[in-house]
Amino acid sequence: MAYDFDLYVIGAGSGGVRAARFAAGFGAKVAVAESRYLGGTCVNVGCVPKKLLVYGAHFAEDFEQASGFGWSLGEANFDWATLIANKDREINRLNGIYRSLLVNSGVTLHEGHARLVDPHQVEINGERFTAKHILVATGGWPQIPEIPGREHAIGSNEAFFLKELPKRVLVVGGGYIAVEFAGIFHGLGAKTSLLYRGDLFLRGFDGSVRTHLKEELTKRGLDLQFNADIERIDKQADGSLKATLKDGRVLEADCVFYATGRRPMLDNLGLENTGVKLDKRGFIEVDDLYQTAEPSILALGDVIGRVQLTPVALAEGMAVARRLFKPEQYRPVDYAMIPTAVFSLPNIGTVGLSEEQARADGHKVQVFESRFRPMKLTLTECQEKTLMKLVVDAETDKVLGCHMVGPDAGEIVQGLAIALKAGATKQHFDETIGVHPTAAEEFVTMRTPVAQ
Ligand code: FAD
Ligand code: NDP
Repeated sequence: MAYDFDLYVIGAGSGGVRAARFAAGFGAKVAVAESRYLGGTCVNVGCVPKKLLVYGAHFAEDFEQASGFGWSLGEANFDWATLIANKDREINRLNGIYRSLLVNSGVTLHEGHARLVDPHQVEINGERFTAKHILVATGGWPQIPEIPGREHAIGSNEAFFLKELPKRVLVVGGGYIAVEFAGIFHGLGAKTSLLYRGDLFLRGFDGSVRTHLKEELTKRGLDLQFNADIERIDKQADGSLKATLKDGRVLEADCVFYATGRRPMLDNLGLENTGVKLDKRGFIEVDDLYQTAEPSILALGDVIGRVQLTPVALAEGMAVARRLFKPEQYRPVDYAMIPTAVFSLPNIGTVGLSEEQARADGHKVQVFESRFRPMKLTLTECQEKTLMKLVVDAETDKVLGCHMVGPDAGEIVQGLAIALKAGATKQHFDETIGVHPTAAEEFVTMRTPVAQ
């Protein structure tokens, strides 16, 4: 049968754009549908605007520390509207770049909401198109628990477009987004509390990292409330919000921001017209080749709920394009040793196993840890400490995990990830000459284990 397209991609986000562009580059006839914004979550309401706001929030401490180096500044004033307008301008520029990338690679762009009509057919803007393969790359959406008054709360999508910086913010959740946005709001001057339902935030990260970040955020005056869960939110006559916690306490705020995970975006997608199955958590179930239960339909990125990170969606998009249209170049995505950063203030950078995971996996571990005051702060009042940690297999000497909390941790961990991917041992780290004077050199100078 002749199809309109070899590949029809639903969703022009990180994974969809990568798959579409590369498939077209390999000679396939490709279309991509996008209902909202080119570039998807990452470009519009994720990584990029978030990092811009984190940069914005960082200036507060830069100004404070500058005086130690002889600078005297007038009173610093922050204008949220300027930051948001400049951010929006940059995002518009990136949207344009994504459009050109697609069009210049020969991909047909359909702007509108796409819906599956059958396993080989998509409907968009009243038109139907057939395709040999359909790729669902529709991403995710913030999930806010069903509590009374949830309509008064916002999620990350709205946070990027607030008209003004709220004076008092309650951030709910203990994952990436909660920790990052708590840093943004606090850094920009809002009175911020982070409420997490468990004992300590960032479940799954290395224990030392979690504790160290807790201490550093507390030093900065961020109000951390663990074992705290909101039962209901009420709007008061003056427009402010009243959050009643399960333990009976009442907190007042101007904004309640939920960052309690993301659900797959499957709204009105027409999956019921196909044999696509969902997993227990409601994400699209795929095999190792991103094949769903419906042979002509593939899925990748956040909608399959494996690792919700842009570089992972990009790698999956590349793998799908290669397997379908350039099989001789196909390589499976390796999910081991994925480096990641949390752009909290200070940043977390991490790759490989946490100490807890390494022990649970049966490794006999040696732990190397260093805590120090970064050189940049020695002329300032700031008492912030950086943490660096290596988790090593005592039998093979292989470095299993590298963890850092401190300035530029995300930048530093990228290079370490290459070393770990290449199977670096602690001896390799020891034999590597440091770059002096840097914080990063500490990773190659830790000699005495603190625990085994
Ligand atoms: P998306 O990028 O979400 O793209 C899906 C696209 O599909 C969207 O554009 C959507 O509009 C479109 N779509 C959905 N349904 C339809 C339909 N029926 N028809 C047509 N189009 C449709 N990751 C990092 O690696 N680093 C970070 O710093 C980082 N920060 C983040 C910060 C925030 C606040 C958030 C929310 C996420 C962040 N992420 C980060 C995660 C990252 O954004 C996602 O993992 C990534 O965008 C997933 O890509 P995707 O292609 O699967 O989906
Ligand atoms: P996460 O899954 O990282 O964290 C969700 C948090 O919300 C957890 O602390 C969880 O607690 C808590 N939670 C879940 N349900 C409830 C509930 N009903 N009530 C109270 N608390 C709840 O999700 P995020 O929304 O922070 O981010 C989504 C994903 O986006 C991340 O996992 C990450 O993959 C990606 N991302 C990546 C970034 C980066 O690379 N820098 C930045 C931002 C997002 P518990 O631990 O107890 O389950």
